[in-house]
This record gives sequence, structure tokens and C-alpha cells, in this order.
Amino acid sequence: MSHPQSTELYARARRVIPGGVSSPVRAFGAVGGTPRFIARGEGAHVIDADGVRYLDFVGSWGPLILGHAHPRVVSAVIDACRSGMTFGAPCAGEVELAERIVAAYPGLEQVRFVSSGTEAVMSAIRVARAATGRSLIAKFSGCYHGHADHLLVAAGSGLATLGRPSSAGIPVPFAAATRVLPLDDESAARELLAREGTELAAVIIEPVPANHGLLPQRRAFLEMLRAETRRHGTLLIFDEVISGFRLARGGAAERLAITPDMATFGKVIGGGMPVGAFGGSRALMSHLAPEGDTYQAGTLSGNPVAMAAGLATLDVLEREQGWARLESLGVALEETVRPVLARAPFPVHLVRVGSLVWLSLHEGGAPHSAASLSAQASERFARLFHALLARGIYLPPSPYEVLFLSLAHREEHCAELASALDSALASVGAVA
Ligand code: PMP
Repeated sequence: MSHPQSTELYARARRVIPGGVSSPVRAFGAVGGTPRFIARGEGAHVIDADGVRYLDFVGSWGPLILGHAHPRVVSAVIDACRSGMTFGAPCAGEVELAERIVAAYPGLEQVRFVSSGTEAVMSAIRVARAATGRSLIAKFSGCYHGHADHLLVAAGSGLATLGRPSSAGIPVPFAAATRVLPLDDESAARELLAREGTELAAVIIEPVPANHGLLPQRRAFLEMLRAETRRHGTLLIFDEVISGFRLARGGAAERLAITPDMATFGKVIGGGMPVGAFGGSRALMSHLAPEGDTYQAGTLSGNPVAMAAGLATLDVLEREQGWARLESLGVALEETVRPVLARAPFPVHLVRVGSLVWLSLHEGGAPHSAASLSAQASERFARLFHALLARGIYLPPSPYEVLFLSLAHREEHCAELASALDSALASVGAVA
């Protein structure tokens, strides 16, 4: 299928924007071909610059839990814009949204707003370091926490390793203050805490890791982390940028009944506008300026337009029993898609937690810690992606990214995905 407008825009974009995109995964690097430039979104669909309509399972990577251009969110944003877009002064919207988040999330007493998930995590870690007077942090391989220097760190497999930068431009000493642990490995975490617990300011984890495929953790593993961090005076930070207000009103913490010391948010709480937030107990958050000596700030933080989008989104989720409906939708998708995958010509496993869904092409079954796909499986994914795109289905353009369901998706959309998958898998299988 030709897509002249996207092709032309991409050529122009590549002249003036590195790689032609504002965020790398959009460039279709893992699947090849020309990224589609999206002109419009309507509910569960996006329409590209050539007027082609796709059933969208990306949902802007998580914020659009109500679907594209939800009328309530759009009118809240327009109303807020009419009264001025930003003041750099406190406004009522941020108080209301903060009250909502604090009331919803286990153990939270205060939050502060920022403009992205990256900033939320970066700032939470600064508070953790200030509060504990310690420097080291630990993260898990396969978890993504934004692109702050000390978090763009990967490490070899096996037991806890010293962090190495996973990007150019990060001084080795920055990364060296980050320890990297494997997911789903109790003894590695216990060993690290026993060895360096008194120097660790925080252990950060996505409680439902969703950035290297979907890697649900055993509750016992997360409980052990909770207990061991507490024992060593290390703060446990749940990065709920994806899971917050998506998996439940109280995020993964509510779902798992585990309360972290701090949590970070983004995506859903901004309803499609750039919003992040981080929070914890009043005692922890009082380290922040102006009360404390830990500096953190933002020109557009808590602006009334972004707050209005977030509040409208949470209103609709509450009023329409959003979380229960998303769970039933997830079940429906699983029931329609599983039989199709069972007759696929190569292994495809469906992993689901609530409205997060992953199609894993790992040959040995879906993993529970970060695992690389074989070259053959990556190639299969690229072909499957394009076969689905040609059938009007827009999946995340990477085999390690999850699908996001929204309240705009209906059971008939699950059926549409299942039937497109059936024929796409057959066409890929014929050449795989
Ligand atoms: N944490 C998690 C768990 C994320 O998934 C992301 C982004 N996908 C971030 C942090 C960073 O958020 P942002 O892209 O808004 O900076």
C-alpha cells in the first residue's frame, strides 16, 4: 500500500528532526518501513495523513485510557484554554488533581506535578537520596523509568551488576551509582540489599513491568522487596507511570495490596496532556523546596489546561466504572484472540494484566524477566506488524511494547483484531 503523504512528511521530518521523530520508537526502526504520520484520532481509531483509518492499540503509549479526543476531555481542555493556558502561579486544578491522586493511591499524602514521567522519576529519586542521605539506587533490568542519566542504565545478565550506561552521553560515574537487578529473582535482590542496603537510597521498580514486553511479577517477589527495603531503610519506589490509574484507581499498588514509600505517575493522570507526578508521605515530600532543601521546579508544572485534561479523564473513569469495564474488555480480547494464537504457525503468547496486553513471540514461552527475542522471532514480528497494518490494525511498532486498551475499544474491536491476526499470522507463517 502506498502512503505518499506520510512518505513526504517523513522525508521532510528527517531533514530537520533527528531520525524524523520526536521519540525513537516512532521511527519504525524495529519493523522497517515508513512511519505513519497521524492526522487525527477518534475513539479507538487513528487516521493517517493519507486518510487511512486504523484500529489503534497504541493509545499514545498509555495516556488515552478513554480513547482519542474524548468529548469530555476535549471540552474541559477548551474551557481551560479560554481562561488562560498557564500562569506560573498556583491554580485550583492542581489542588483538585492532587487531592484525587492522594485519595486514590495507597499511602500517599502529597504529590508534586511535573510535565513528564521522566521528570517524575528523576525527582522522586532526588527526594529519596535527600531523605536517606544515601547515593546508590537499584533498578531492574527490563524496567524503563524515563531517560534521566542515572536511569538509562543496563547491565549484564546474572546477579546484581554495576550499572553501565545504555546510552552514549552518560558519564560512567553517573551510571555507577545505579545497581541493576534481574526481575523475578529473590536471591539477587536479597544479596544486593544485604551487601549494600545501608548505602541504597531507593529500589525502583515498575510493579507491573511493561517496557520490555509485559513481565508480571509474582506477588511474593514484590512482597519480599517491600520487606527487605524496609529492613534496610531503603525506600521502595513504584513507577506507576503506565500502571497508575490504569490497572486500578490505586494503580498496581492497590491491585497487589503492596504500599511503596513513593510512587511516580504520568500518562493517564494527564489525559493526553504532558503531566507527571511523584509523591509519598508528607515527611518525605517535605524535603522538597520551598519547605526543604531539595530543589525541583517547572515552568509549566500543574498548568490549568493539563490539570483539566487529567481531572476530566479521572471523572469519566470513575463515573463509567472504567476499571471494571477495562478488565472485562481485556477478558473479551483474551477469549477472542487466544484461539487464533493457538493455531498460529509459530509461537505467539498472549500476556495480559487488565488493559495491558502483550503478544510475546518468545519461542520458549512468555518470560518473567527481560529476555531478548531471537533474530528470527524479531523478523516475524516485523512481518506480522506490517501484515496487520495492511489490515487496518495499528500495533506498537516493536515486539517489546505492549498494547493499550481504552474505554473506546468495544468487543467488536477485539473480534476485528482476532480476525486480522488470523489472516496476518497465516500470511507471515507462509514465509516464516
Ligand atoms: N516510567 C515508565 C514506567 C514509563 O513507561 C515511561 C514512559 N513510557 C516513563 C517512566 C517516562 O515517561 P515520559 O515518556 O513521560 O518521560
